[in-house]
Parts: sequence; C-alpha cells; structure tokens
Amino acid sequence: MMHRYQNQQLMLEDCSVAALAERFGTPLYLYSQVAIEQAFNAFAEPLKGRKHLICYAVKANSNLAVLNLLARLGAGFDIVSGGELARVMAAGGDPAKVVFSGVGKTRAEMAQALKAGIHCFNVESVAELDRLNAVAAELGLVAPVSIRVNPDVDAKTHPYIATGLKENKFGIDIRMAPDAFRKAASLPHLKVVGVDCHIGSQLTQTQPFVDAIKRLIELEQQLQADGIVLSHLDIGGGLGVSYTDEQPPTPAQYLAQVLPLIPANLTVVLEPGRALVANAGLLVGRVEMTKDNGFKRFVILDTGMNDLMRPTLYQAVMPVLAVKEAQNQGPVSDLVGPVCETGDWLAKDVPLAAEEGDLVAIGGAGAYGFTMSSQYNSRPRAAEVMVRGDEALLIRQRETVENLWAGEQLLPEASC
Ligand SMILES: *Cc1c(COP(=O)(O)O)cnc(C)c1O
Repeated sequence: MMHRYQNQQLMLEDCSVAALAERFGTPLYLYSQVAIEQAFNAFAEPLKGRKHLICYAVKANSNLAVLNLLARLGAGFDIVSGGELARVMAAGGDPAKVVFSGVGKTRAEMAQALKAGIHCFNVESVAELDRLNAVAAELGLVAPVSIRVNPDVDAKTHPYIATGLKENKFGIDIRMAPDAFRKAASLPHLKVVGVDCHIGSQLTQTQPFVDAIKRLIELEQQLQADGIVLSHLDIGGGLGVSYTDEQPPTPAQYLAQVLPLIPANLTVVLEPGRALVANAGLLVGRVEMTKDNGFKRFVILDTGMNDLMRPTLYQAVMPVLAVKEAQNQGPVSDLVGPVCETGDWLAKDVPLAAEEGDLVAIGGAGAYGFTMSSQYNSRPRAAEVMVRGDEALLIRQRETVENLWAGEQLLPEASC
C-alpha cells in the first residue's frame, strides 16, 4: 500500500490527501501509480522465462489512464463487453492481447471483437460456439476460442463472487467440456486455442486454484489424446488482497504453487483485476455531520454506496483511514453516506473521532470502486486522480448535474 501517515497526516505516495481533497473536491478517488506498477511487476517477475500473457480484468477499474498505464507495462486485457473493448483501444491497449469473457456476448460485440483481432473469445456455452461461428462466417473470419470450464471447486469466498461451483452460471461443466471442445474443433469458423477458468474473486488460499488447474491440465491432456492441441491455459483472476486482516498469498507465492503444474509448452494466461489495483486506491470523503441516535454514533460523509458499493453489496470490510491520524481513535461509529437506503454504509463499528469538515478515506478502493458506482439519488459521480510521487493528475472530471440528465428529454407539450 502506498499510503502512510507523515506528521500525523495521511499521504498517498508523496501527496497530502488533505491537499488533494482541497484541490479536487470530494468525493474523490485517488490512485497510486507506483502501487499499480509494483502490483503488475509482482505478477510479471515470477513469469519471466515462461510464455505468458497478463490480461488485466478491465471491470476492476476501467479508467483510461489506468488502462493506458497497464498497456504501457505490457499488459493484455480481459474484457466482458464491447464497451470495455472500446475503452482498451481508446487507451492504447493492444487488441491482440485481449481475451473476451462473459456469458452473454451479443452478435454485435462478437463482430466488433473479431474485426479488432482479439487474442481469443473465452466461450461460456455451446450456444455461444454456434453464435460465434455464424458471426465469424458472415465476416469471412476465423474466431480464436478458448472454452471456459467450470471445474466445480469451492473458492471459499463470498457467495456473490464465487464462480467455479457447478450451480453458477459461468463456464461449461468440466464433465461436458470434452464434447464442447470437439464441437468447437468441428466448426469451420472457429479455431480452438485454449482453455480457461475463473473460479471466483478475493481468494485468500492457493488450494482452490491448484485444484482447478489440475483439473484443467487433465482435460488438456485428454484433449491432446483426441487430437485437439491447445496453445494456452488461462487460469483466470481471483487472487485476493489484504483489505484489513486477510492474508492472501503474494503473487509470487501463488505463482510458485501453480506454475509448476502447467506444462512449459503452454502459454500461461492470467486475468488479475483486484490484485493489480485494489490497494492502489483510496476513496476520500468529507464529514457532513455526525449524529448520535442514542444507540449509535454515525459519521455521515458526502460519499456513500453510490460511490462505493462493496460494503453493502458483499458485506465487505474495508479499512477506514481518518486523514488526521489521531482521529483513528475515538468513539465507535458507523461510517455512512447520504443516500436514502439503510444499506448505505461504508464501515460499521469503527473507532473514529472525525467531526464535521474532517476528511475520511476508505482504503482498498482501487478495484470495484468507481466502476460499480452509480448516480443513484442523482449524485454526480466522483472525480478520479492519479498520483505519482508528489504530482497529481485529474484522470476523470467530477460529473456535473448536467451530466445527470445528458441524453434525457422532456415530453413534447402536445403529448400531455
Ligand atoms: C472479474 C473477473 C476477473 C478478475 O477477477 P479479480 O478477482 O478482480 O482478479 C477475471 N476473469 C473473469 C472472467 C472475471 O469475470
């Protein structure tokens, strides 16, 4: 993490968070460029000497500056929509390093990705194989495909972010995968290039990854015996981060466990999202007021669930950092927002002495923060700033109220 206290004041790299809040206003997302670079290198280093492709999962944080930074570091991208592909290309990403995941790709999205020349489609169903073959035929192209296999392992994470169990909507059950591969190999406008899985997010143990990869390798060997030769194995994303007291393996520890399982002739593809950006980010809000209802003290910020959904959506516990260090001691309080929902909370039962006008930051906000934000309650979305050393660059302007109704229109007078 690139934040620390200096003279009792919260800093991100060498920038004072209070000064940034003054300059750019709140609510404010801050990202540390060095933290993203270090996280990327933590994956890239252990992969040296292996054929590999690190495809950053764009949905974690899709700001163009973040994508551009990762593209310059050599990353590919894991996308789940045509919109994400457009973002990757606008940010200077290489479409030849893009893998396209998702259970509901439209024909238009398939055509867009085929024309862009992506690395491969991570196909999630037999229906998708047929659709992709038809779209590629219309364009006179051949679609490179990997099949997303559901290995039926328990990722031991929050049920909303576990994706590798047989009851989930993702991928093709591993027992049915050989048939799906044979079908893919038989379709003239598809070329089978790989196999992939993604078993969940915020995993804090390596064992579920190991179990899943072993199953994928078994499948790969079986396919080879059937004459279907794969060139890559995509082990997905999902490596967890430490928000408060979790102790996930580092990328190096994780890779030390999984790389030896994978035959050297296969290119290793990874799809990390959270692990590259979560701990690079802070969400900063200002206290509007405090309130004690006789049972509980509430610290009410100018930011809430519309800016950061994770606490209410996943019961995620995220670190609370008073910008003045001394305020991290104080009465036990709930940190809430102004949105009209009981679920509008950012943290519960935290010691916090902040009062009206003080600043509070939420750590670990670089992943699934801004990308999941909304304008609910007609709240313009936050500004985003990239910090590097003692410099700060506005990478997304704060939305205005006019942005709230852009594209809307009144009914014509005659219609009422
Ligand atoms: C969300 C997602 C990822 C990234 O997951 P993280 O937990 O952020 O690493 C990777 N691959 C697929 C298919 C995804 O849906």
